[in-house]
Amino acid sequence: MIADDDPDIRELLSITFIRAGFTVVAAADGRAALRAAEQQLPDAVLADMDMPGLTGERLCLAMRAHPRLRTVPMAVLSGTLYPQDSRCQRAGACMVMLEPVANKDLVTAIKHLVATGPHGHRPDHECCATPARLRPAEFLAVTGG
Ligand SMILES: [Zn+2]
Repeated sequence: MIADDDPDIRELLSITFIRAGFTVVAAADGRAALRAAEQQLPDAVLADMDMPGLTGERLCLAMRAHPRLRTVPMAVLSGTLYPQDSRCQRAGACMVMLEPVANKDLVTAIKHLVATGPHGHRPDHECCATPARLRPAEFLAVTGG
């Protein structure tokens, strides 16, 4: 699942993940992403921090409060967060990645989350100890793979 208000980036990310063997679904903003996640129950979610309607942090909080989505692995990417800003981790994100990030690193990070699988989240939880760097995107949720 991919949401991005730039259709070119959305297309590029879709192709990247489909080539990597994932099933990809796109959504256009945070609220659409939450609805799509409820319907698709993705294996992992990648959300941009600065989405219209529902930020990546807010999407995280909404998913962690959702009975069926609270254990879904989730990553947030951002071009604006400072490395020491832990608000997304506190909101329940498994990892936070700072742009720019190469496509292959993005795929590696999401594969890692899918392999980790559903799990509980605590503030001290570390699903991925090494933050990667990501290129711009609004939202990704990946099912299968
Ligand atoms: Zn986690």
